[in-house]
Amino acid sequence: MSPPHKLHIKSYGCQMNVYDAQRMVDTLAGEGFVETASIDDADLVILNTCHIREKASEKVYSELGRLRVIKDEAARNGRTLYIAVAGCVAQAEGQEIIRRAPVVDVVVGPQSYHHLPQLLTQAKRHGRALETEFPVEDKFGFLPPPKPDAIRARGISSFVTVQEGCDKFCTFCVVPYTRGAEVSRPVAKIVDDVLRLADHGVREITLIGQNVNAYHGEGSDGRVWSLGDLLRRLADIPGIARLRYSTSHPRDVDETLIAAHRDLPALMPFVHLPVQSGSDRILAVMNRKHTADDYCRVIDRFRSARQDIAFSSDFIVGFPGETEEDFQATLALVMQIGYAGAYSFKYSPRPGTPAADMQETVSAAEMDERLVRLQELIDSQQSAFNQAAIGNTIDVLFERAARNPGQIVGRTAYLQPAHVTASPDIIGQVLPVKIESLERYSLLGQLAPASAAPAVPPASSQMPLSQMIDSAQTRMGA
Ligand code: SF4
Repeated sequence: MSPPHKLHIKSYGCQMNVYDAQRMVDTLAGEGFVETASIDDADLVILNTCHIREKASEKVYSELGRLRVIKDEAARNGRTLYIAVAGCVAQAEGQEIIRRAPVVDVVVGPQSYHHLPQLLTQAKRHGRALETEFPVEDKFGFLPPPKPDAIRARGISSFVTVQEGCDKFCTFCVVPYTRGAEVSRPVAKIVDDVLRLADHGVREITLIGQNVNAYHGEGSDGRVWSLGDLLRRLADIPGIARLRYSTSHPRDVDETLIAAHRDLPALMPFVHLPVQSGSDRILAVMNRKHTADDYCRVIDRFRSARQDIAFSSDFIVGFPGETEEDFQATLALVMQIGYAGAYSFKYSPRPGTPAADMQETVSAAEMDERLVRLQELIDSQQSAFNQAAIGNTIDVLFERAARNPGQIVGRTAYLQPAHVTASPDIIGQVLPVKIESLERYSLLGQLAPASAAPAVPPASSQMPLSQMIDSAQTRMGA
């Protein structure tokens, strides 16, 4: 290949993959690659795959079929197009990809993508290259820092991986097999990353990990630091207005995390805490290691630390063995908690997981029907939560120009999109907005005087979230 080399990367799935894709771009920038939005002028295409979705590998093979046509066309035009498969499907099915898809030059697992330059060289010399081991070295130690231009182009909000892998082994989940055992990055490295991002205009950091609140990194004092300890350190970094973290496991919520929510105004009062089911029987078969009551008590601890805190969650309906009674327990839990939003999915087996060997007992029609009932309930709660913002003045971190000319869009503490008509100068600022209306999931309003809302409303001045939802439901007649 002769410069400039163009890289097209297509990423599927979770926020970890979004972050990994950015780091692959950073890694290959050192080799003279620049990103292109078009597959047609790329010299290298990377599919950064996800194994969570149903029939994930089949979708990868059909995408590779399309890429074969493009690669053949490039060859007819005297160009060489290299194709790499990365991410969790690469990890789970590396040898099979090499066997079934001759179009692929490089297969690289999520723990090895810092070796992409060497793997490309190897593919050029020897035809193909595969690496899906969990290497002993920490890939983060080998990834070059993102360039200032790249940081600025990615906007004012950034992910930072602090932890990878999972030791929980929920019976439906592939993560422990594709991402390996829990590993936490040292505090000093994370602080360096956040300092660099803040220096180049990033205002909001979301710490990510497959089980982020299992974080147990080596601290600057030689102790093992928890996620709460880490958040406390990052909250001191000038320029960082907002901190978030995702995704958490209910069992790993410790007192340092609760205290961080109590003490740190920069830590947003919005927690994604998956529960998956409200039935203790199903939670046990899922190997979730908590009951519905344990989960509710964790929620209560958050709420006692911070009255305005809101929650989102994940649910699976139709898990093997789920009866109507079990499903009713899920609906009851949703009613009890009152979510600001949640993701819900029909169960489908993932190859290689214990649940894939369980007898499926819920028919497709029953699953569809349960999913509709659950989503109607969640939607009504989300709608009530959003309606409750109307008439209030709330802080918004402005991110970018909206599609509507003249409008700028930002996010509230609860990640609700909020639009105002204003100059692009406000991008990167946290400003109070008087919310006037709601259009689908977006809030619309006007900039309010700076004194109209504190950076984060004090907990004592807030109506408890459950009451906000109740009163908004009453207004909506729900
Ligand atoms: S805790 Fe989350 S990542 Fe870990 S096995 Fe369970 S569902 Fe998967």
